Amino acid sequence: MNYKALAERLLPGEYPPLSRYEEKYPPRDLPDGAEVTRLAPSPTGFIHLGNLFAAIANERIAHRSGGVLYLRIEDTDLKRKVDGAVEAVINALRYFDIKFDEGAEIGGDETYAPWYQRERAEMYRAFAKHLIEEGRAYPCFCTEEELSALREEQTQRKEITGYYGKYAKCRNLSEEEIYRNLDAGKPFVIRLRSMGDPANKIKFRDAVKGEITVTENDQDVVILKSDGIPTYHFAHAIDDHFMRTTLVIRGEEWLASLPIHIELFDVLGFRRPRYGHNCSLMKQDGETRRKLSKRKDPELSLEFYRKEGYFARAVKIYMLTLLNSNFEEWYQKNPDAPLEEFPFKVEKMSKSGSLFDLDKLNDISKNELSKLSVADMGAFLKVWAEEFGTEEQRHYFDDEEKLSRVLALCMGVGGKKRRKDFMTASQAMETIRYFFERTPRTDEYRVEKAERCGILSDFLATYSPADDAQVWFEKVKAIAGKHGFATDMKEYKLSPESFKGSVADVAEVLRIATTGRANTPDLWTIMQILGENEVHGRLEKAKDE
Ligand code: GLU
Repeated sequence: MNYKALAERLLPGEYPPLSRYEEKYPPRDLPDGAEVTRLAPSPTGFIHLGNLFAAIANERIAHRSGGVLYLRIEDTDLKRKVDGAVEAVINALRYFDIKFDEGAEIGGDETYAPWYQRERAEMYRAFAKHLIEEGRAYPCFCTEEELSALREEQTQRKEITGYYGKYAKCRNLSEEEIYRNLDAGKPFVIRLRSMGDPANKIKFRDAVKGEITVTENDQDVVILKSDGIPTYHFAHAIDDHFMRTTLVIRGEEWLASLPIHIELFDVLGFRRPRYGHNCSLMKQDGETRRKLSKRKDPELSLEFYRKEGYFARAVKIYMLTLLNSNFEEWYQKNPDAPLEEFPFKVEKMSKSGSLFDLDKLNDISKNELSKLSVADMGAFLKVWAEEFGTEEQRHYFDDEEKLSRVLALCMGVGGKKRRKDFMTASQAMETIRYFFERTPRTDEYRVEKAERCGILSDFLATYSPADDAQVWFEKVKAIAGKHGFATDMKEYKLSPESFKGSVADVAEVLRIATTGRANTPDLWTIMQILGENEVHGRLEKAKDE
């Protein structure tokens, strides 16, 4: 067969000699040991926690070694492309402050650009043409129907599905048959002519999983689709070679494709990068552990964290806890050190599934947010409210003075210990809502209505915003005594049956009447912030509840 003529027929025209690409994308000038890593998401509109997990690992590895992290957009599959998806990816990664050195919509050193695969089409074709010339790739004219019939047949026979061995019909077409198909204008794809044998097992060192055994590939995978656009596999090999990636950290769902990639790198004559396949994020679901699922678990989507207003640093800390087994201990010892100082190690990445527990993340979030200054907390909430908040919530920022007092109180600033009431921006905004409007009651009164009304009336009769906390409390105690509630907790505990309740119950009436909630920070301060009129208004209204 005249492969050269065939290559010209299939991919007509001049392509640069392959050596030109080697010159154009020279090895990077980096110190020894510097790793070049990347994030290569497809713009499907769904960027998930697994992407962030890999992004953090890749970022740490690159930057701790003095290397480079870049962002490549794998947009070869137009069917899956969603408008605005690239922006969504970039926004999500920006939210988590993943620092790329180069890449799509990021810029940086242009040497290895473009970073959108569709803009690299010529190069993929040049290499595909070369493989055809070498007899290592061939045109396949099988239709979708034929391929699905094949899949069905293989499934029925309980054989491995795919285009390989005796099933690779077009692999052995004669020259004549090929040209007849071409003359008839039949669409074709280009497939790799695999030389692998699945009976051969290869030992492979995975940077995360350690030594693993891989079966040789025998699938004649598609390298160029009928529109001349490469498949992920082919583009991966070419791009990671020419972008001079040294280490590919990607999800373990790609492990099954590794044999294909090994063969592609070999047939293209490229040196392979090292690979590390990070384990999937699992979720405890009753008795079993399962992979986080797009359908069942909203927390899989990175959009979830932005919308809820998770504090990015907290999510990062939790990801690092899952990524490196010694991170937690390091962080306990170095709570104030920049996270960049943690000696992140690929070898410390978990080899089997990491359990993702939203409650654990929530605890970390509360802890991290409790360390912020009032000003930083205000800024964090404002950014969230501007994008996701309601009109009303955006007004919370009109009176900065008031907001600062609210935040300081809810965060326990100046107290013995910081409060940990805030978990996310959306939850924090909901938590402080009662300072800005009378909110629906979320907790029930323990004291019955007639008694409540009496307490509220008595309180209103004596309440003065000029009272300090102590005087205020003495007044509450006096009201408690008048209504048959113990004013002293010790006394109450000794003989609870002698009282209707204690001063705590009376305070709770005032608290729920003022805020709608049974649990709040110091009520005297809340009343100070609300001001006399508002307190009066709310307590009057509460009498009718
Ligand atoms: N485009 C692939 C994805 O969407 C990238 C896999 C890789 O990192 O090689 O996950």
